[in-house]
Amino acid sequence: MTTKKPAASETGDPLLLTPGPLTTSASVKQAMVHDWGSRDAGFLAINKMVLDRIVELAGAQGTHVTVPVQGSGTFAVEAMITSFVSKAGKLLVLINGAYGQRALKIAQIAGRATASLETPEDTPPDLAKLDKMLSDDKAITHVFAVHCETTSGILNPIAEIAAIVAKQGRRLLVDSMSAFGALEIDARNIYYDALAASSNKCLEGVPGLGFVVCRNTALAECKGNATTLVLDLFDQAEAFARTGQYRFTPPIHVIVALGKAIEEHAAEGGVAGRGKRYRDNAKVLIDGMRAMGFQTLLPNDLQAPIIVTFHMPTDPKFVFQRFYDGLKDRGYVIYPGKLTVADSFRMGCIGRLYPEHMKGALAAVREVLDELRVSNGGPALAAE
Ligand SMILES: *Cc1c(COP(=O)(O)O)cnc(C)c1O
Repeated sequence: MTTKKPAASETGDPLLLTPGPLTTSASVKQAMVHDWGSRDAGFLAINKMVLDRIVELAGAQGTHVTVPVQGSGTFAVEAMITSFVSKAGKLLVLINGAYGQRALKIAQIAGRATASLETPEDTPPDLAKLDKMLSDDKAITHVFAVHCETTSGILNPIAEIAAIVAKQGRRLLVDSMSAFGALEIDARNIYYDALAASSNKCLEGVPGLGFVVCRNTALAECKGNATTLVLDLFDQAEAFARTGQYRFTPPIHVIVALGKAIEEHAAEGGVAGRGKRYRDNAKVLIDGMRAMGFQTLLPNDLQAPIIVTFHMPTDPKFVFQRFYDGLKDRGYVIYPGKLTVADSFRMGCIGRLYPEHMKGALAAVREVLDELRVSNGGPALAAE
């Protein structure tokens, strides 16, 4: 095969095989080439459509409302935690990666009482322990769980977690940032008070808007909880109900692009269609990488079709920076690992990527390995 013929997105940019921000369609980017005032009726109609469609995607019509938060996904997570957990509340954080750690830090900085239940990055939360902690510590009012922990790509058992939290009469806050729009989480079956996600992951918009799907009855109890002005979801929701507008300048172009991205999501078959494409991508990627000797961190039954963590090859000729640069030269951007349990790197399956892009990425991996004179991507040096 010929070398260094860059892959490209529809606009000629390198493809982002990353946890986000992601490759977006040309039409989503094209939606941004206009200017709108923040009180423009056309913009406000698009914004309302976006918020309503998100509630529909969540299966939450009539029970929940989407409250948008200007900023990246973490802004929405911080808004969710500090608006829902009152100063007298206590948050139990389930941790098996960096995003659980981050939620704990947010709660601690905000001066909320916390507890945590931590498992290694390749291990789902211990459900029996969760049940016991809730039985033993009546001060815990809320539980925080990450749906897909993007640190490793692990799929956490959110339905089982929700059932235990509900049985124990506590409230659930979900970070579904890297899953929402591709992996089913239906509010009619999974009971939660709030779920945070953002514009730039599985919905395939551009970065700049976080949002929280909030249970109406729970949000109504959140007045005065927030410890910041800008991240007060009660106030933000109240302003929308009263004026239909944001309290502070909205990322208008981002929201209009998200409106276009949500149309494309529906055209692809909604959550089922988007999830199928990502599962197809993940299968092509994992099968192809394993055929070259690479090993995944996670077994198939824990792996979400979002991002895949691979162990770093042990061949001393494998230099990650050269591997990364070789792939980038060929039009594929991958992501370093941030695990504590293993030296690793990650390749994403989400964004405007199709199985043929994953095949292209695999061919590029093969070429770069050849260039580095690495014959096997695994720890199986003895086989050489
Ligand atoms: C991406 C992500 C976030 C938010 O990250 P930002 O960089 O603030 O957008 C939060 N949680 C999870 C699980 C994520 O994947």
